[in-house]
Amino acid sequence: MDDVTAILDHMNPAQREAVSAPQGNMLVLAGAGSGKTRVLVHRIAWLMQAEGLSPYAVLGVTFTNKAAREMRTRLEALLGISLRNVWVGTFHSIAHRLLRTHWQDARLPQHFQIIDSDDQLRLVKRLLKDHRIDDERFPPRQVQSFISGCKEEGLRPHQVDAHGDAYLAQMVELYERYQLTCERGGLVDFGELLLRSLELLRDNPALLAHYQERFGHVLVDEFQDTNTLQYAWLKLLTGMKTPMTVVGDDDQSIYGWRGARIENIRRFEQEFPATRTVRLEQNYRSTSAILDAANALIRHNAGRMGKELWTEGARGEPISVYSGFNDLDEARFIVDTIREKVEEGINRREIAILYRSNAQSRVLEETLIRQGVPYRIYGGQRFYERLEIKNALAYLRLLLNRDDDASLERVINVPARGIGTRTVEVLRTRARQTEVSLWQALHDGLLDASLKGRAATAVRAFADLIERLDNDTAGLALHEIIDHVIETSGLIEHHRSEKGEKGQARVENLEELVTAAKAFTQGEAFEPPEAGEGAVALEGFLSEAALNAGDHEAEEFEDCVQLMTLHSAKGLEFPVVFIAGVEEGLFPHKMSMEEPGRLEEERRLCYVGLTRAMRKLYLTHAELRRLHGKETFQRASRFLRELPEETLEEVRLRGQISRPVTARPAVGLSRQTSVDGGGELPSLSLGQRVSHPVFGEGVILNAEGEGERARVQVSFEGEGDKWLVLGFAKLKPL
Ligand code: ATP
Ligand code: MG
Repeated sequence: MDDVTAILDHMNPAQREAVSAPQGNMLVLAGAGSGKTRVLVHRIAWLMQAEGLSPYAVLGVTFTNKAAREMRTRLEALLGISLRNVWVGTFHSIAHRLLRTHWQDARLPQHFQIIDSDDQLRLVKRLLKDHRIDDERFPPRQVQSFISGCKEEGLRPHQVDAHGDAYLAQMVELYERYQLTCERGGLVDFGELLLRSLELLRDNPALLAHYQERFGHVLVDEFQDTNTLQYAWLKLLTGMKTPMTVVGDDDQSIYGWRGARIENIRRFEQEFPATRTVRLEQNYRSTSAILDAANALIRHNAGRMGKELWTEGARGEPISVYSGFNDLDEARFIVDTIREKVEEGINRREIAILYRSNAQSRVLEETLIRQGVPYRIYGGQRFYERLEIKNALAYLRLLLNRDDDASLERVINVPARGIGTRTVEVLRTRARQTEVSLWQALHDGLLDASLKGRAATAVRAFADLIERLDNDTAGLALHEIIDHVIETSGLIEHHRSEKGEKGQARVENLEELVTAAKAFTQGEAFEPPEAGEGAVALEGFLSEAALNAGDHEAEEFEDCVQLMTLHSAKGLEFPVVFIAGVEEGLFPHKMSMEEPGRLEEERRLCYVGLTRAMRKLYLTHAELRRLHGKETFQRASRFLRELPEETLEEVRLRGQISRPVTARPAVGLSRQTSVDGGGELPSLSLGQRVSHPVFGEGVILNAEGEGERARVQVSFEGEGDKWLVLGFAKLKPL
């Protein structure tokens, strides 16, 4: 009994109520950092220990694989037993598990492969090309999101009504063709995983009954971000009889653009019988300064379900706002501050830099590298999405499934082996006309000699290579298979011969793939392989790679600053948080500024960002930003104005006397310096390139002081950043 009550230790009354409530439907509706995820984990432990639920009877749904792993670890710590086989995972991984187990009933080939959104886009592009459809009228990304959108709503092509609209009809036709290609290649995209598993359960009453019987309780985290299909999936799986505990926060719904429906929270309350609703209002994560700011911000949204957060914790430091005059300056401020923090004894992994768009990371990364601060990008340049890794995976997929057209196209000429686009085009046409896979078309072409000469030789060599790889790797362990494939295919040599760091990094990544395979077979992965040999292990590994694209764990425990988009920061917390690029057009993103609904979603995203911070929060913006190759003047985000002044503090750099308030490249520094008679000084501007007789060439980053004390900070290539007195420095504008 001691164990049971221990689960309720360190919980407030509302949390205790939620954890120990009798089985039945329950909604925990609460703001950020109020312990929702913690309640969910403790509830699972409670159900097992106090209610005697078997670990096999629990289904836990999380939003990311990382969250799933964390949940498992926390549970194991609470219960003191190993829980490798509990069903805790993302919707995708659980759906995948169902499809893999019941592939025949799901009408899938045994070795079906998961494709990510990159592959999906590539497939769409090829379809458009094959059918000579104007990709300006039908932009590939739009077609892709149409297809995903249909799947998220649970619609198959024949269920979409075009209402006589020719444009829509064309979209539907594309969806249908896309679907055909996937079927032929045994390919399953993310939306398909869910839709297919829903159909599997729906069309197989015996199977459905089995799972409804098996699961005694279903628990879902981040419920506000479920979409229509996921909601329907849960409804079907539980038959509205298996009790469910769902936790969520309407203020943190940030995936509306991907089909998530906040209304699902209300629907759940109404549709599922006898739902008990528990609210948690005490926040355990952040200082009250941070919390006040977050509360004030989110009050600007309409139609909220209404929650306030309070904390017993300290007021803490105010939120620091830094206005850089350009993105470089912003990045430099962030990295300098991080270095100070680290010197004060804070671990780098306790610090996160969050941003709205992936593209923002580059300048930040470069500054971190320049200053030698280790960092990692979480969910950004995903390990399994890197070019070289995808190429290697494509070879591996071909070993399992020759009809995987996407993979074949990917590597047929990588490394270059003399198969030109013309030859590939010929194969494509043939495949389309005879309705076979590219692999089949390739063999047919060789047989009837429609492929001739050098092209035929090259194509034959490729086909032989694949067969040889398959033969040679039979019976090898997974990591040996991968090692053999990347060597024999010539992939690793291809990158070795590339010049510079990029090639080196690619070689390292390929080697890392072998390491990842070893870890996989040793069961360190999310879903341990059932029988870990040869093709079975390879199949499991490839699925894992597709599902896991996003969090490669090797670096998890290293002391690195964490970089990620605001979206991927959901559910996480860090002692020190920087949010960069808090500017109109960037955050809120310009795509969302016209529509009130989307603007509110951006505000929720900002709320998510603010509430990631435990002790110290920095908001930074730049007045001049180079993004997507263009330089633009930026205004501070409206979100900054929505924060109460008393929670903010503007950062002024130490010793800085008169940093130009509105730095514009057109305003020369000479204007300031000439006040005290520095008129003979060259006219310089921020961001300008200059040369120095000793340090060489560099860029002006910052300026301060006036007259004879006027100084500029210059970032010299190879020499680092230096402050120079303008009167002495002999800087020449370039
Ligand atoms: P989010 O909405 O961001 O997902 P959440 O509601 O899921 O947040 P948790 O991540 O579960 O919140 O909890 C936030 C932090 O507060 C965690 O560090 C957690 O351990 C801590 N915490 C939660 N409840 C308590 C409590 N009763 N006593 C002490 N610490 C707590
Ligand atoms: Mg949470």
